[in-house]
Amino acid sequence: MASASPDIAKAVAGRPERPVIALVVPCYNEEPMLPISAPILLGVLDTLSARGLASDESYVLCVDDGSRDGTWRLIGEFHASDKRIKGISLAHNRGQQSALLAGLMTVRDRCDAAITLDADLQDAPDAIYEMVENFRRGDDIVYGVRSSRPTDTWFKRNSAHAFYKLQKRLGLETVYDHSEFRLMSRRALELLSEYGEINLFLRGIMPHIGLQSSIVTYERAARAAGETKYPLSKMVSASIDGITSFTAQPMRIIFMIGLSLLVIDIIVAIWVFIAHFYGNAISGWSSLMLSVWFLGSLVLVALGVIGEYVGKIFVEVKHRPRYAVAKELLD
Ligand code: UDP
Ligand code: MG
Repeated sequence: MASASPDIAKAVAGRPERPVIALVVPCYNEEPMLPISAPILLGVLDTLSARGLASDESYVLCVDDGSRDGTWRLIGEFHASDKRIKGISLAHNRGQQSALLAGLMTVRDRCDAAITLDADLQDAPDAIYEMVENFRRGDDIVYGVRSSRPTDTWFKRNSAHAFYKLQKRLGLETVYDHSEFRLMSRRALELLSEYGEINLFLRGIMPHIGLQSSIVTYERAARAAGETKYPLSKMVSASIDGITSFTAQPMRIIFMIGLSLLVIDIIVAIWVFIAHFYGNAISGWSSLMLSVWFLGSLVLVALGVIGEYVGKIFVEVKHRPRYAVAKELLD
């Protein structure tokens, strides 16, 4: 069957013709959704195998993120009836990022490539075939990018776009309209495992790893069952985490404001002196004005200077790998 597929001829040397693919699915209170998702994901594995794109040993890893409903029981039932559905259960609810990392580190030595996707299948599973094809042609990271968000509310769509823009302004490189739907090769997972930080933001780290990558577009569907686990409060805290785990830019902004105020101080001082000598100022106003402005900007500059040092510490304590070798010709 393998020789019948023209795609296999295009598989890059060094990449297995039929890679073992692990679908990593974070699940938090997904009892209503899993009975719908599991058969669909198994169907995807069947199709991958039938098209000669992936090994029969490919599987789904459900990561139960400390659910309080019957999610883990369901995963056990699915596993009993089909061993291709595997599971791990976290002791506590740690959030999607940690659940994803736990899953990825579990499959790291047990697959050729992992694909992360949400349990609600809002990330179109049909895009998986193209992702695997790109992997077989040599890409290490394939980002799923939404072509549209027709079912998201106006607020969700616009708040997400505002977040991307803010990140970019603050110097954090992310892929526009990409969430956690992504393929990562074993090599990418190995490099990811070298990032020791606790405050993890996968969307920022994957472009930071910087291996050969491509994009697959898909249409984001509505959640078929259950509720979103990302209300506004969690979205805001995820945005703040994303920015503060990647850039010390906000501290630099404080420093710059302080410096600009020091310059403005000169203009204020001229104005105060003019008012003082022309007698427009009541007694005490001039000295008060000068000290308020001067001390204010001095405090901001001082905070900014401390911020610069804290920023350096912040970068150092992460112990991030300083480089990643993508290709070698050493023989
Ligand atoms: N999720 C998780 N832990 C959490 C919250 C969410 O593992 O604390 C999972 C959830 O089960 C789903 C994915 O993360 O598979 C995305 O969550 P959701 O669909 O609720 O977010 P939305 O699509 O509304 O942004
Ligand atoms: Mg969802």
